[in-house]
Amino acid sequence: MADIEHLRSLLKAHPDFPKKGIVFLDIFPILRDPVAFESLITHFVYHLTSHTIPQSPSKKVDVVVALDARGFLLGPVIAMRLGAAFVPVRKKGKLPGECVTATYEKEYGSNRKDSFEMQADAIQPGQNVVIIDDLIATGGSAKAAGQLVSQLGGKVIEYLFIIELLFLKGAQRLDAPVYSMVKTD
Ligand code: 5GP
Repeated sequence: MADIEHLRSLLKAHPDFPKKGIVFLDIFPILRDPVAFESLITHFVYHLTSHTIPQSPSKKVDVVVALDARGFLLGPVIAMRLGAAFVPVRKKGKLPGECVTATYEKEYGSNRKDSFEMQADAIQPGQNVVIIDDLIATGGSAKAAGQLVSQLGGKVIEYLFIIELLFLKGAQRLDAPVYSMVKTD
């Protein structure tokens, strides 16, 4: 718990970024501090290998999916520590080969749509998948990532975030349990 409080204290709030009225929470101060970054990754790995997800063969994490772009700073490291595959979800048009696509509303409720893609051979039917990103706001992008996993026959067993903005109720839009290290209003 002391570790979480320390990690929370490193998050920096930037008012009016990227536009007026938005308070942007920056995770990069954690990554600048190697001990804090190690503790962040260990926190997620411990969570995934001990309590919340019951230890049974059916709940073993096969694939860690992370969202473009800050999710990529967490997903590969956690996947390597778990001995799981890492799979990226990217903005449309960035991944080679056959892809599946899901559309979501862009951040901050702008009503503008964007699309995410995942490589069609990245997940095998029946695999257990966790989806990770730095922050959940409206939940639109995480929901689209979940749809991509489902299209390929994977099973989302948990969504993980460093930060959850509770007032936007994004977790309620997701179809699997949500674990967020820091919850804030
Ligand atoms: P959502 O789709 O849940 O509305 O938005 C979540 C996405 O927006 C995440 O990919 C996250 O990186 C980005 N995002 C939105 N607001 C913030 C913020 O205040 N801080 C950070 N680090 N990311 C944000």
